Amino acid sequence: MTILRAGTATDVGQVRSNNQDSQLLVAGNSLYGVADGMGGHQGGEVASAIAVELTGQHATEPTLESLKQAVRLANRAIFEKAGSDRDLHGMGTTLVAIQLVASPDGDEVAWVNVGDSRVYLLRDDRLVQLSHDHSLVEDLVRDGQLTADEAAVHPQRNILTRALGIDLDVAVDGATVLPFTGDRFLLCSDGLFNEVSEDQMASVLRRLADPTEASEELVRLANEGGGRDNITVVVVEVVDDGGRAAAASAALADDPTRVLSAVPVVPITQPADEPLFAGSRSSLPNADDSFRSETDDPFANLDKARSRRITWRVLAFLLLLLVLAGATISAIGYSARNTYFVGFQGQTVALYRGKPGGVLWFDPKLVRVTKITRRDVPAALRPIITKGKDFSSRGAADRYLVNLRAQIGTTVNDAATTSTTVPATTTTAAPGGTTTTTSTIPAR
Ligand code: MG
Repeated sequence: MTILRAGTATDVGQVRSNNQDSQLLVAGNSLYGVADGMGGHQGGEVASAIAVELTGQHATEPTLESLKQAVRLANRAIFEKAGSDRDLHGMGTTLVAIQLVASPDGDEVAWVNVGDSRVYLLRDDRLVQLSHDHSLVEDLVRDGQLTADEAAVHPQRNILTRALGIDLDVAVDGATVLPFTGDRFLLCSDGLFNEVSEDQMASVLRRLADPTEASEELVRLANEGGGRDNITVVVVEVVDDGGRAAAASAALADDPTRVLSAVPVVPITQPADEPLFAGSRSSLPNADDSFRSETDDPFANLDKARSRRITWRVLAFLLLLLVLAGATISAIGYSARNTYFVGFQGQTVALYRGKPGGVLWFDPKLVRVTKITRRDVPAALRPIITKGKDFSSRGAADRYLVNLRAQIGTTVNDAATTSTTVPATTTTAAPGGTTTTTSTIPAR
Protein backbone atom coordinates (compact mmCIF):
# COMPACT_ATOMS: atom_id res chain seq x y z
CA MET A 1 0.00 0.00 0.00
CA THR A 2 1.26 3.42 -0.97
CA ILE A 3 1.30 6.11 1.70
CA LEU A 4 1.65 9.80 1.01
CA ARG A 5 2.17 12.68 3.38
CA ALA A 6 1.77 16.31 2.43
CA GLY A 7 2.57 19.79 3.63
CA THR A 8 1.56 23.14 2.25
CA ALA A 9 2.14 26.86 2.56
CA THR A 10 0.65 29.89 0.89
CA ASP A 11 1.27 33.61 1.03
CA VAL A 12 -0.15 36.73 -0.55
CA GLY A 13 3.36 37.83 -1.56
CA GLN A 14 4.91 41.28 -1.40
CA VAL A 15 2.77 43.14 -3.93
CA ARG A 16 -0.78 41.81 -4.07
CA SER A 17 -3.42 42.80 -1.53
CA ASN A 18 -5.34 39.53 -1.66
CA ASN A 19 -4.49 35.90 -2.18
CA GLN A 20 -6.34 34.37 -5.12
CA ASP A 21 -4.59 31.02 -4.86
CA SER A 22 -6.28 28.01 -3.26
CA GLN A 23 -5.00 24.67 -2.05
CA LEU A 24 -6.59 21.25 -2.25
CA LEU A 25 -5.82 18.79 0.49
CA VAL A 26 -8.03 15.73 0.79
CA ALA A 27 -5.85 13.35 2.73
CA GLY A 28 -8.56 10.66 2.81
CA ASN A 29 -8.49 10.42 -0.98
CA SER A 30 -4.80 11.21 -1.22
CA LEU A 31 -5.80 14.17 -3.38
CA TYR A 32 -3.77 17.39 -3.47
CA GLY A 33 -3.88 20.46 -5.64
CA VAL A 34 -3.13 24.12 -6.24
CA ALA A 35 -5.34 26.61 -8.06
CA ASP A 36 -4.35 30.12 -9.06
CA GLY A 37 -7.39 32.31 -9.67
CA MET A 38 -7.75 35.35 -11.85
CA GLY A 39 -10.41 37.98 -12.20
CA GLY A 40 -11.30 41.32 -10.72
CA HIS A 41 -12.86 41.95 -7.33
CA GLN A 42 -13.27 38.56 -5.68
CA GLY A 43 -13.42 36.62 -8.96
CA GLY A 44 -10.02 35.00 -8.72
CA GLU A 45 -10.54 33.83 -5.19
CA VAL A 46 -13.97 32.48 -6.00
CA ALA A 47 -12.77 30.65 -9.11
CA SER A 48 -9.82 28.97 -7.42
CA ALA A 49 -11.95 28.08 -4.40
CA ILE A 50 -14.62 26.45 -6.57
CA ALA A 51 -11.94 24.61 -8.53
CA VAL A 52 -10.41 22.92 -5.50
CA GLU A 53 -13.74 22.34 -3.75
CA LEU A 54 -15.49 20.69 -6.68
CA THR A 55 -12.45 18.72 -7.77
CA GLY A 56 -12.26 17.39 -4.24
CA GLN A 57 -15.97 16.55 -4.24
CA HIS A 58 -16.06 14.81 -7.61
CA ALA A 59 -12.73 12.96 -7.65
CA THR A 60 -14.25 10.06 -5.79
CA GLU A 61 -12.97 7.21 -7.93
CA PRO A 62 -9.26 6.41 -7.73
CA THR A 63 -8.66 6.79 -11.45
CA LEU A 64 -7.08 9.36 -13.69
CA GLU A 65 -10.31 9.66 -15.69
CA SER A 66 -12.32 10.35 -12.54
CA LEU A 67 -9.87 13.09 -11.59
CA LYS A 68 -10.08 14.62 -15.05
CA GLN A 69 -13.87 14.47 -15.00
CA ALA A 70 -13.86 16.21 -11.60
CA VAL A 71 -11.81 19.02 -13.10
CA ARG A 72 -14.18 19.28 -16.05
CA LEU A 73 -17.15 19.53 -13.66
CA ALA A 74 -15.36 22.22 -11.68
CA ASN A 75 -14.70 24.07 -14.90
CA ARG A 76 -18.35 24.03 -15.85
CA ALA A 77 -19.41 25.25 -12.41
CA ILE A 78 -16.97 28.17 -12.57
CA PHE A 79 -18.08 29.01 -16.10
CA GLU A 80 -21.75 29.04 -15.13
CA LYS A 81 -21.09 31.05 -11.96
CA ALA A 82 -19.12 33.62 -13.96
CA GLY A 83 -21.99 33.87 -16.42
CA SER A 84 -24.67 34.35 -13.76
CA ASP A 85 -22.88 36.89 -11.56
CA ARG A 86 -21.80 40.14 -13.17
CA ASP A 87 -19.19 40.75 -10.45
CA LEU A 88 -17.57 37.44 -11.28
CA HIS A 89 -17.72 37.78 -15.02
CA GLY A 90 -14.46 36.70 -16.65
CA MET A 91 -13.10 34.89 -13.64
CA GLY A 92 -11.00 31.82 -14.19
CA THR A 93 -8.33 29.73 -12.57
CA THR A 94 -5.52 27.33 -13.16
CA LEU A 95 -5.50 23.96 -11.47
CA VAL A 96 -2.93 21.27 -10.88
CA ALA A 97 -3.74 18.23 -8.81
CA ILE A 98 -2.35 14.81 -8.01
CA GLN A 99 -4.16 11.80 -6.66
CA LEU A 100 -3.23 8.31 -5.65
CA VAL A 101 -5.08 6.06 -8.09
CA ALA A 102 -5.34 2.35 -8.70
CA SER A 103 -4.02 0.47 -11.70
CA PRO A 104 -3.38 -3.18 -12.61
CA ASP A 105 0.28 -2.51 -11.73
CA GLY A 106 -0.66 -1.26 -8.28
CA ASP A 107 -0.95 2.28 -7.02
CA GLU A 108 -0.06 5.14 -9.26
CA VAL A 109 0.02 8.88 -8.82
CA ALA A 110 -2.19 10.63 -11.36
CA TRP A 111 -1.63 14.28 -12.10
CA VAL A 112 -3.79 16.74 -14.00
CA ASN A 113 -3.19 20.25 -15.23
CA VAL A 114 -5.02 23.17 -16.77
CA GLY A 115 -3.15 26.50 -16.95
CA ASP A 116 0.35 27.32 -15.80
CA SER A 117 0.54 26.11 -12.25
CA ARG A 118 2.99 23.23 -12.15
CA VAL A 119 3.60 19.71 -10.93
CA TYR A 120 7.21 18.74 -10.38
CA LEU A 121 8.67 15.44 -9.28
CA LEU A 122 11.93 15.13 -7.38
CA ARG A 123 13.32 11.64 -7.84
CA ASP A 124 16.87 10.42 -7.49
CA ASP A 125 17.98 13.99 -6.80
CA ARG A 126 16.55 15.18 -10.09
CA LEU A 127 13.67 17.66 -10.37
CA VAL A 128 11.46 17.09 -13.40
CA GLN A 129 8.47 19.18 -14.43
CA LEU A 130 5.65 16.77 -15.20
CA SER A 131 3.04 19.25 -16.37
CA HIS A 132 3.27 21.48 -19.42
CA ASP A 133 2.24 25.11 -19.03
CA HIS A 134 -0.71 26.29 -21.06
CA SER A 135 0.82 29.66 -21.67
CA LEU A 136 1.80 31.79 -24.59
CA VAL A 137 5.51 31.60 -23.82
CA GLU A 138 5.35 27.82 -23.53
CA ASP A 139 3.87 27.70 -27.02
CA LEU A 140 6.68 29.95 -28.24
CA VAL A 141 9.28 27.70 -26.60
CA ARG A 142 7.67 24.66 -28.19
CA ASP A 143 7.73 26.42 -31.56
CA GLY A 144 11.41 27.19 -31.08
CA GLN A 145 10.80 30.94 -30.99
CA LEU A 146 11.97 31.33 -27.38
CA THR A 147 14.44 29.50 -25.20
CA ALA A 148 13.34 28.31 -21.78
CA ASP A 149 15.56 30.98 -20.21
CA GLU A 150 13.98 33.69 -22.34
CA ALA A 151 10.51 32.43 -21.48
CA ALA A 152 11.29 32.57 -17.76
CA VAL A 153 11.72 36.35 -17.90
CA HIS A 154 9.39 37.13 -20.80
CA PRO A 155 7.01 40.06 -20.04
CA GLN A 156 4.08 38.05 -21.39
CA ARG A 157 4.88 34.89 -19.48
CA ASN A 158 1.64 35.11 -17.47
CA ILE A 159 -0.63 35.04 -20.49
CA LEU A 160 -2.51 31.77 -20.44
CA THR A 161 -3.81 29.76 -23.33
CA ARG A 162 -6.04 27.54 -21.20
CA ALA A 163 -7.82 27.91 -17.85
CA LEU A 164 -10.87 26.74 -15.95
CA GLY A 165 -14.06 28.79 -16.15
CA ILE A 166 -13.52 30.37 -19.51
CA ASP A 167 -15.48 27.96 -21.65
CA LEU A 168 -18.17 25.37 -21.09
CA ASP A 169 -15.70 22.58 -21.70
CA VAL A 170 -12.00 22.37 -21.10
CA ALA A 171 -9.30 19.95 -22.14
CA VAL A 172 -7.50 18.53 -19.13
CA ASP A 173 -3.93 17.29 -19.43
CA GLY A 174 -3.11 14.31 -17.30
CA ALA A 175 -0.91 11.27 -16.84
CA THR A 176 0.16 8.77 -14.23
CA VAL A 177 3.46 8.05 -12.54
CA LEU A 178 4.53 4.96 -10.63
CA PRO A 179 5.40 6.19 -7.14
CA PHE A 180 8.56 5.11 -5.34
CA THR A 181 9.46 5.71 -1.73
CA GLY A 182 11.28 9.00 -1.41
CA ASP A 183 9.57 10.63 -4.40
CA ARG A 184 8.54 14.20 -3.70
CA PHE A 185 5.86 15.88 -5.74
CA LEU A 186 5.86 19.67 -5.74
CA LEU A 187 2.69 21.48 -6.79
CA CYS A 188 2.90 25.25 -7.04
CA SER A 189 1.46 28.42 -8.50
CA ASP A 190 3.55 30.65 -10.74
CA GLY A 191 4.29 32.89 -7.77
CA LEU A 192 6.88 30.27 -6.81
CA PHE A 193 8.63 29.40 -10.04
CA ASN A 194 8.75 32.98 -11.27
CA GLU A 195 10.82 33.88 -8.20
CA VAL A 196 12.68 30.70 -7.31
CA SER A 197 14.89 28.70 -9.65
CA GLU A 198 14.41 25.00 -10.13
CA ASP A 199 17.84 24.42 -8.60
CA GLN A 200 16.69 26.25 -5.48
CA MET A 201 13.46 24.24 -5.39
CA ALA A 202 15.34 20.97 -5.70
CA SER A 203 17.78 22.04 -3.00
CA VAL A 204 14.98 22.78 -0.55
CA LEU A 205 13.20 19.52 -1.31
CA ARG A 206 16.42 17.59 -0.69
CA ARG A 207 17.35 19.48 2.45
CA LEU A 208 14.06 19.66 4.36
CA ALA A 209 12.45 16.33 5.08
CA ASP A 210 9.21 17.67 6.47
CA PRO A 211 6.80 18.62 3.63
CA THR A 212 5.37 21.54 5.57
CA GLU A 213 8.79 22.93 6.39
CA ALA A 214 9.85 22.53 2.78
CA SER A 215 6.69 24.32 1.61
CA GLU A 216 7.24 27.18 4.01
CA GLU A 217 10.87 27.54 2.99
CA LEU A 218 9.92 27.68 -0.68
CA VAL A 219 7.33 30.39 0.02
CA ARG A 220 9.95 32.30 2.03
CA LEU A 221 12.38 32.13 -0.88
CA ALA A 222 9.71 33.35 -3.30
CA ASN A 223 9.03 36.34 -1.06
CA GLU A 224 12.75 36.94 -0.80
CA GLY A 225 12.94 36.85 -4.59
CA GLY A 226 10.38 39.61 -4.90
CA GLY A 227 7.03 38.03 -4.02
CA ARG A 228 5.38 39.73 -6.97
CA ASP A 229 2.47 37.29 -6.97
CA ASN A 230 0.59 35.04 -4.61
CA ILE A 231 2.67 32.00 -3.73
CA THR A 232 1.23 28.58 -3.03
CA VAL A 233 3.13 25.36 -2.56
CA VAL A 234 2.07 21.79 -1.82
CA VAL A 235 4.76 19.18 -1.20
CA VAL A 236 3.68 15.54 -1.27
CA GLU A 237 6.08 12.82 -0.30
CA VAL A 238 5.81 9.11 -0.99
CA VAL A 239 6.66 7.69 2.41
CA ASP A 240 5.83 4.10 1.49
CA ASP A 241 5.44 2.59 -1.96
CA GLY A 242 4.13 -0.76 -0.76
CA GLY A 243 7.41 -2.51 -1.48
CA ARG A 244 7.60 -1.43 -5.13
CA ALA A 245 11.11 0.02 -4.86
CA ALA A 246 12.34 -3.09 -3.07
CA ALA A 247 10.70 -5.34 -5.66
CA ALA A 248 12.22 -3.28 -8.46
CA SER A 249 15.66 -3.54 -6.86
CA ALA A 250 15.23 -7.30 -6.52
CA ALA A 251 14.13 -7.58 -10.13
CA LEU A 252 17.09 -5.52 -11.20
CA ALA A 253 19.41 -7.72 -9.18
CA ASP A 254 17.91 -10.81 -10.83
CA ASP A 255 18.15 -9.36 -14.32
CA PRO A 256 20.82 -6.65 -14.61
CA THR A 257 19.89 -6.03 -18.26
CA ARG A 258 16.52 -4.68 -17.17
CA VAL A 259 16.63 -0.92 -16.93
CA LEU A 260 14.05 0.93 -14.95
CA SER A 261 13.19 4.45 -16.00
CA ALA A 262 14.31 7.04 -13.48
CA VAL A 263 11.06 8.91 -14.05
CA PRO A 264 8.49 6.54 -15.56
CA VAL A 265 6.14 9.18 -16.84
CA VAL A 266 3.16 8.18 -18.94
CA PRO A 267 2.88 10.57 -21.87
CA ILE A 268 0.34 13.32 -21.63
CA THR A 269 -2.93 11.91 -22.82
CA GLN A 270 -4.35 15.22 -23.90
CA PRO A 271 -1.99 17.11 -26.18
CA ALA A 272 -1.82 20.82 -25.67
CA ASP A 273 -3.56 21.68 -28.87
CA GLU A 274 -6.90 22.66 -27.48
CA PRO A 275 -8.76 25.92 -28.12
CA LEU A 276 -7.04 28.96 -26.74
CA PHE A 277 -8.27 30.59 -23.60
CA ALA A 278 -9.13 34.25 -23.92
CA GLY A 279 -7.65 35.49 -20.70
CA SER A 280 -4.66 36.34 -18.68
CA ARG A 281 -4.67 36.49 -14.94
CA SER A 282 -2.85 39.77 -15.05
CA SER A 283 -5.24 41.21 -17.58
CA LEU A 284 -8.23 41.30 -15.37
CA PRO A 285 -9.10 44.27 -13.16
CA ASN A 286 -6.95 44.23 -10.09
CA ALA A 287 -6.09 47.45 -8.35
CA ASP A 288 -2.90 46.14 -6.82
CA ASP A 289 -1.60 44.69 -10.02
CA SER A 290 0.85 47.52 -10.35
CA PHE A 291 3.53 45.59 -12.18
CA ARG A 292 1.22 44.51 -14.93
CA SER A 293 2.62 44.85 -18.37
CA GLU A 294 0.57 46.86 -20.83
CA THR A 295 1.05 44.06 -23.27
CA ASP A 296 -0.98 41.72 -21.09
CA ASP A 297 -4.18 41.80 -23.03
CA PRO A 298 -7.40 40.24 -21.74
CA PHE A 299 -7.85 38.80 -25.18
CA ALA A 300 -4.40 37.41 -25.46
CA ASN A 301 -5.55 34.33 -27.30
CA LEU A 302 -7.48 36.50 -29.68
CA ASP A 303 -4.34 38.49 -30.26
CA LYS A 304 -2.47 35.29 -30.82
CA ALA A 305 -4.99 34.06 -33.33
CA ARG A 306 -4.98 37.51 -34.84
CA SER A 307 -1.21 37.44 -35.02
CA ARG A 308 -1.48 34.30 -37.11
CA ARG A 309 -3.78 36.14 -39.45
CA ILE A 310 -1.41 39.08 -39.34
CA THR A 311 1.31 36.75 -40.50
CA TRP A 312 -0.67 36.13 -43.65
CA ARG A 313 -1.44 39.81 -43.92
CA VAL A 314 2.22 40.61 -43.57
CA LEU A 315 3.01 38.10 -46.29
CA ALA A 316 0.35 39.63 -48.54
CA PHE A 317 1.69 43.08 -47.75
CA LEU A 318 5.24 42.03 -48.56
CA LEU A 319 4.02 40.51 -51.80
CA LEU A 320 2.27 43.77 -52.64
CA LEU A 321 5.45 45.67 -51.83
CA LEU A 322 7.38 43.38 -54.15
CA VAL A 323 4.86 43.96 -56.94
CA LEU A 324 4.99 47.71 -56.34
CA ALA A 325 8.78 47.67 -56.26
CA GLY A 326 8.81 45.70 -59.53
CA ALA A 327 6.34 48.12 -61.09
CA THR A 328 8.40 51.10 -59.92
CA ILE A 329 11.60 49.64 -61.33
CA SER A 330 9.82 48.89 -64.61
CA ALA A 331 8.53 52.48 -64.74
CA ILE A 332 12.01 53.83 -64.05
CA GLY A 333 13.44 51.53 -66.70
CA TYR A 334 10.79 52.57 -69.18
CA SER A 335 11.46 56.22 -68.40
CA ALA A 336 15.22 55.71 -68.66
CA ARG A 337 14.89 53.92 -71.98
CA ASN A 338 12.50 56.46 -73.49
CA THR A 339 14.02 59.76 -72.49
CA TYR A 340 16.90 61.44 -74.27
CA PHE A 341 19.51 64.02 -73.50
CA VAL A 342 22.09 66.03 -75.31
CA GLY A 343 25.55 66.02 -73.82
CA PHE A 344 29.19 66.02 -74.73
CA GLN A 345 31.03 62.95 -75.85
CA GLY A 346 34.56 64.08 -75.46
CA GLN A 347 34.72 67.31 -77.40
CA THR A 348 31.63 66.65 -79.48
CA VAL A 349 27.93 67.15 -78.85
CA ALA A 350 26.03 63.87 -78.83
CA LEU A 351 22.52 62.53 -78.38
CA TYR A 352 21.97 59.89 -75.72
CA ARG A 353 19.03 57.77 -74.72
CA GLY A 354 18.44 57.62 -70.97
CA LYS A 355 19.16 59.93 -68.09
CA PRO A 356 22.42 61.84 -67.55
CA GLY A 357 24.47 59.74 -65.14
CA GLY A 358 22.09 56.82 -65.52
CA VAL A 359 19.27 55.63 -63.25
CA LEU A 360 19.73 52.50 -61.16
CA TRP A 361 21.39 50.05 -63.54
CA PHE A 362 19.96 51.75 -66.67
CA ASP A 363 23.03 53.40 -68.14
CA PRO A 364 22.59 55.96 -70.90
CA LYS A 365 23.17 54.78 -74.45
CA LEU A 366 24.84 56.80 -77.14
CA VAL A 367 22.40 57.30 -80.03
CA ARG A 368 24.44 59.46 -82.31
CA VAL A 369 27.34 61.88 -82.36
CA THR A 370 26.91 65.24 -84.04
CA LYS A 371 29.61 67.23 -85.75
CA ILE A 372 29.05 70.10 -83.34
CA THR A 373 32.14 70.55 -81.25
CA ARG A 374 32.39 71.90 -77.78
CA ARG A 375 34.02 74.98 -79.21
CA ASP A 376 31.01 75.55 -81.48
CA VAL A 377 28.59 75.63 -78.59
CA PRO A 378 27.84 79.09 -77.22
CA ALA A 379 29.52 79.60 -73.85
CA ALA A 380 26.17 80.08 -72.11
CA LEU A 381 24.97 76.65 -73.23
CA ARG A 382 28.14 74.69 -72.45
CA PRO A 383 27.35 74.16 -68.76
CA ILE A 384 23.83 73.01 -69.65
CA ILE A 385 25.06 70.48 -72.20
CA THR A 386 27.92 69.48 -69.95
CA LYS A 387 25.35 68.60 -67.32
CA GLY A 388 23.14 66.91 -69.92
CA LYS A 389 20.11 68.62 -71.42
CA ASP A 390 17.29 66.10 -71.21
CA PHE A 391 14.11 65.61 -73.21
CA SER A 392 11.03 63.47 -72.89
CA SER A 393 11.17 62.32 -76.49
CA ARG A 394 13.58 61.71 -79.32
CA GLY A 395 11.75 64.35 -81.44
CA ALA A 396 12.23 67.05 -78.82
CA ALA A 397 15.93 66.23 -78.56
CA ASP A 398 16.34 66.30 -82.34
CA ARG A 399 14.56 69.66 -82.52
CA TYR A 400 16.94 71.01 -79.88
CA LEU A 401 19.92 69.90 -81.94
CA VAL A 402 18.43 71.49 -85.07
CA ASN A 403 17.94 74.74 -83.17
CA LEU A 404 21.44 74.48 -81.74
CA ARG A 405 22.88 74.03 -85.19
CA ALA A 406 20.81 76.98 -86.45
CA GLN A 407 21.98 79.05 -83.53
CA ILE A 408 25.63 78.45 -84.22
CA GLY A 409 25.21 78.50 -88.00
CA THR A 410 26.38 74.97 -88.50
CA THR A 411 24.99 72.92 -91.32
CA VAL A 412 26.96 69.83 -90.78
CA ASN A 413 25.38 66.42 -91.19
CA ASP A 414 25.41 64.44 -87.99
CA ALA A 415 27.06 61.06 -88.03
CA ALA A 416 24.84 58.23 -86.93
CA THR A 417 26.35 55.72 -84.56
CA THR A 418 25.23 52.42 -83.23
CA SER A 419 23.90 52.46 -79.70
CA THR A 420 26.52 51.87 -77.11
CA THR A 421 26.09 51.57 -73.42
CA VAL A 422 27.96 54.31 -71.68
CA PRO A 423 29.11 53.88 -68.12
CA ALA A 424 27.38 56.45 -66.00
CA THR A 425 30.53 57.36 -64.18
CA THR A 426 34.17 56.48 -64.11
CA THR A 427 36.25 56.43 -61.03
CA THR A 428 39.91 57.26 -61.15
CA ALA A 429 42.48 57.11 -58.49
CA ALA A 430 44.39 60.32 -58.25
CA PRO A 431 47.98 60.55 -57.13
CA GLY A 432 48.17 60.68 -53.38
CA GLY A 433 45.57 58.03 -52.93
CA THR A 434 42.47 60.18 -53.25
CA THR A 435 39.68 58.97 -55.46
CA THR A 436 37.66 61.19 -57.74
CA THR A 437 34.46 60.27 -59.49
CA THR A 438 33.41 62.08 -62.58
CA SER A 439 30.64 61.69 -65.09
CA THR A 440 31.91 60.50 -68.42
CA ILE A 441 29.15 62.27 -70.28
CA PRO A 442 30.10 65.84 -69.55
CA ALA A 443 33.78 65.02 -69.46
CA ARG A 444 35.82 67.88 -70.56
MG1 MG B 1 -0.17 33.51 -9.92
